[in-house]
Amino acid sequence: MNEVTTGVHQVSRGVNAFIVDGDEGVVLVDTGLPKRHGAIVEALGSIGRSVGDVRAIVLTHAHSDHFGGAAALTRQTGAPLVASDIDAPVIEGLQSVPAPPILDFPVLRLIAKLVPTPESATVDHRVTTGVISIAPDLTVVPTPGHTDGHISLLLDRAGGVLFAGDSAMATRTGGVQRGFMNRKSATFDASLIAMARLDFAVACFGHSGPITTAASGAFRSFAGSL
Ligand SMILES: [Zn+2]
Repeated sequence: MNEVTTGVHQVSRGVNAFIVDGDEGVVLVDTGLPKRHGAIVEALGSIGRSVGDVRAIVLTHAHSDHFGGAAALTRQTGAPLVASDIDAPVIEGLQSVPAPPILDFPVLRLIAKLVPTPESATVDHRVTTGVISIAPDLTVVPTPGHTDGHISLLLDRAGGVLFAGDSAMATRTGGVQRGFMNRKSATFDASLIAMARLDFAVACFGHSGPITTAASGAFRSFAGSL
């Protein structure tokens, strides 16, 4: 586990999930691969928290490596599950998991197929945009493209922390890229531009390490190159 900035912990088990620790309790952002939620419970223990401290679980999108632990963690924590209204039917098992728009490499397609479909989970709180009423330090930023209902989350802390999910990833040199899990599209690029209009110091991603300084500047540089 890695503390990205004060009280924001990245739990990495093939994909990143995040623990946001604050005065009012803990919010989880994404839940990792199916059957790997134990790593998040362990990480809570390592920062002196427990499942009883979790007050909300927020999902960026309905891919198996992000909502894989949602059903188990909602059971263990009793916390409400928050997701976008567009992706919620997938999480609830009413629609099949959409194929990720990964780059056309056979090995990536094979890996995507190997991830099992998670146990479905009831979405208690559906969001579209704006402040999440049950987790008011988080603002929903609609960022469709990777999935139709993908959302990013802006945390009001430490100059702003953007949880970008799979709507971007960091380069090795601290820049921003689409990443292997995204193809260029007008919808996706519009989401990158929307994120670049926000102000945040730190950006966290599902499939790369974070950008820990001047992160919105890195988004602006990339958005300007589109
Ligand atoms: Zn994804």
